[in-house]
Amino acid sequence: MIYDVIIIGSGPAGVTAAIYAQRAELKSIVIEKTGFSGGQIINTYEVDNYPGTPGISGFDLSAKFREHCERLNTNFVTGEVVKLDIDNDIKVITLDDGSQYRTKTVIIATGGVPRHLDVPGEDKFSGLGVSYCATCDGAFFKNKTVAVVGGGDVAVEDAIFLSRICEKVYVIHRRDEFRANKSSVNKLLSIDNVVVLWDSVVDSIKGTETVESLDIKNVKSEEVSNIEVSGVFIAVGYVPSSDPYKDVVATDERGYIIASENCETNVPGIFAAGDIRTKDLRQIITAASDGANAITAVERYLTNN
Ligand code: NAP
Repeated sequence: MIYDVIIIGSGPAGVTAAIYAQRAELKSIVIEKTGFSGGQIINTYEVDNYPGTPGISGFDLSAKFREHCERLNTNFVTGEVVKLDIDNDIKVITLDDGSQYRTKTVIIATGGVPRHLDVPGEDKFSGLGVSYCATCDGAFFKNKTVAVVGGGDVAVEDAIFLSRICEKVYVIHRRDEFRANKSSVNKLLSIDNVVVLWDSVVDSIKGTETVESLDIKNVKSEEVSNIEVSGVFIAVGYVPSSDPYKDVVATDERGYIIASENCETNVPGIFAAGDIRTKDLRQIITAASDGANAITAVERYLTNN
């Protein structure tokens, strides 16, 4: 069997591609690591910025995505892709159990994962005060004190965003200088309710049911202090899940697959959609948009080849 399109990943980009593929009557399957759809949103406490479903939990939105796919008879295969080969014009996908799938086109929609600090309390309080997305979760900390960890553009922009919602924002950065662009840094440093803790790292995240405080270590003096916060936003970079594809398609220096707005990579017939793709804004809505664009590009490719 040779498929028209195989979609790898069942986050918002993958499920949208699956829906569009079924509606376009393409021979398709979705390969996913677990038997759940939704990708990163499964772990999101509440999604309040996706039209039509205000306040829905990430888990419930994921379930809705799944239901939608199942209503259209999408075929899901569970497994981890270990290899993508090109055999003439046919692409061959090998899974960890050795099974192989042949297809005319591939949409890589494997997303990525936020880099973790790997400190005590981080996993325990994930979704209970520990967040990796200020845009998604900031509103839950209205008039509270929070911390942002990191010194890049995301951390600085998150802190500026949070300063408008929260009573006080600590920014915890491991060096004495930000990596972020100067104009954002200047803006951040001019905000009254922002306190920057330079040369500092989080030693542990503490609380009972939710986050209550952080132990902070000054890396120069080795002194440990405790600050009270209701939430901590970790913005120390992102790790794209592109390892099996790096030898096949072009990636940038951080491992994101280089692809255009219509999701075309440098290899004809291979598309990248959602957070795995080089882009400015990584949100559910932009991932879903990619899924739709990718299938349109797949249809164009199938017509011309
Ligand atoms: P980033 O630029 O890689 O910055 C990550 C930050 O986290 C750095 O300050 C780094 O410290 C710190 N860090 C990394 N690992 C850490 C750890 N284990 N513990 C404590 N701190 C740690 O990542 P990003 O901010 O997510 O941005 C990703 C990319 O998107 C960047 O290229 C950025 O320029 C771009 N971006 C641009 C814009 C914009 O132009 N408006 C907006 C958002 C993102 P060090 O500085 O010491 O390495």
